[in-house]
Amino acid sequence: MSKIKKYLSNPWIFAIGTTIIAFFVTTILNSFIKDINFKDSFFGIIKIIGQIFFNILTFRIYVWIIILVLLFLFALILILPIFAKKEIDDVPTYRNYRYFKYKEWLFTWDYSSSRYGIQIKNVRPICMKCKCELSQNSYSAMGGGGYRYYFYCPNCEEKYNYIYQNDNTLEDVEKIIVLNLNNSQYDKFEKI
Ligand SMILES: [Zn+2]
Repeated sequence: MSKIKKYLSNPWIFAIGTTIIAFFVTTILNSFIKDINFKDSFFGIIKIIGQIFFNILTFRIYVWIIILVLLFLFALILILPIFAKKEIDDVPTYRNYRYFKYKEWLFTWDYSSSRYGIQIKNVRPICMKCKCELSQNSYSAMGGGGYRYYFYCPNCEEKYNYIYQNDNTLEDVEKIIVLNLNNSQYDKFEKI
C-alpha cells in the first residue's frame, strides 16, 4: 500500500499514468457507447495528446533537477569532443610512425590500405633538418669518371649522399620498416 502511495505521490508517474488510463477508458467507452466517428476519435486523440503535453509542461520540477540536467549536458559537451579526438588518435596508431633514420639518411613513406592490408610505398629520403623532400643534382666527377649525383634540400640547401639504383638501401629500409610495423616496434621509435 505504501508503495502505491509512493507512486501516486510522484507527480510524473501520477500524471502520465492518469492520462494513459484516461486514454484507454475513453477509447473503450467511445467504441461501446457510440458508433465509430473518425472525426471525433481523431480530435479526441489530439486532445489527449495535448493533455499529456500540458501535464508534462505544467509539472512542478525542482530547480536542482534542472540544474543537474544542465550540468550533465554541459559535462557531455565537454567530454564528447575528448572522446571523439581520442578515437581519431587511436585508430591509425601505425600512421604516427612516419620517419626512420637509417645510416646517414632520414626516410619517410606513404601508407595505403587495400583489401590485402596496410602497405607502405614511396620510401624516400628527406631532409634531416627540415623534413623537406630532397631533390637530386649532379656534378662532373674529377678524372673523367662521368657524373656524380647528390641529394640536396630545396628548402635549407643541406646536401646528402645519393642513393644509387644498384644500392639496396631503399629496399633494406622498406624491409626494416615493415618489420617494425609487424612487431609494433614503431611505438618505441622517437618521433622526429
Ligand atoms: Zn632541409
